[in-house]
Amino acid sequence: MIELKDIEKRFGDNVVLKDVSVTMAERSVTALVGPSGGGKSTLLRCINLLELPNAGMVKIGEEELAFGTGRRVATGDIQRLRRQTGMVFQNFQLFPHRTAIENVMEGMTVVLKWPEAKARERAMELLEKVGMAAKADAWPATLSGGQQQRVAIARALAPSPRVLLCDEPTSALDPELAQEVVDVLDRLAEEGTTMVMATHDLRLASKVADEVIFLEAGTVVEKGPAAEVFGNPQRERTKRFIATLR
Ligand code: ADP
Ligand code: MG
Repeated sequence: MIELKDIEKRFGDNVVLKDVSVTMAERSVTALVGPSGGGKSTLLRCINLLELPNAGMVKIGEEELAFGTGRRVATGDIQRLRRQTGMVFQNFQLFPHRTAIENVMEGMTVVLKWPEAKARERAMELLEKVGMAAKADAWPATLSGGQQQRVAIARALAPSPRVLLCDEPTSALDPELAQEVVDVLDRLAEEGTTMVMATHDLRLASKVADEVIFLEAGTVVEKGPAAEVFGNPQRERTKRFIATLR
């Protein structure tokens, strides 16, 4: 359902992704793992086009865009592809002057122009899904990190994206709060939500991911089913890295 083909991304002379070709099936969960600076965040940002690849093809569902062809990519096309995605960040990034439910409603009222009542109803369903309905009217600052992240997940799901992208969704959390977020993501996975997540959290990756992509210095070193990559990594490099996570 998601296809990245020959993706290259440079920042100046620094080649951050080179010839990355991966596919992700609908209803699957893919974990991006690998050392810091390896390109995990950049790859996620090339899927939602917060960063534009210098070359290669990005396809989500029926939407497909080619980069580096010499032809300018239209803003409308970028927005259409981006709308297939929802993003969750390490530091939650909730709007501090909006309540939990207002955070979830924002995209529906402002971007999708839904009427307030319809947006509120959908936001409440999503807050229930992440176990945060009781805190709908709370301000972000009064919520724990785990609660804020669960609201952020509800917000990312609001426009019904085809894929949920998560960048280190548990890294800013103490183990106990991280567990709440792991449980929510696990439940979403069981419901068939397609997800791609960059993570160092082996508990998250081994519980939730179906597929693992090991990225180092901008290239895919190893990829395969999570049980195989975690249980019996083929490459020496992958083996050593996974040992550091345990
Ligand atoms: P990871 O998420 O695996 O830690 P990143 O994708 O954040 O890796 O970074 C990969 C490389 O890209 C790093 O060398 C980083 O310094 C560089 N990089 C990321 N974003 C930018 C940017 N906006 N401008 C310049 N360099 C960047
Ligand atoms: Mg990162």
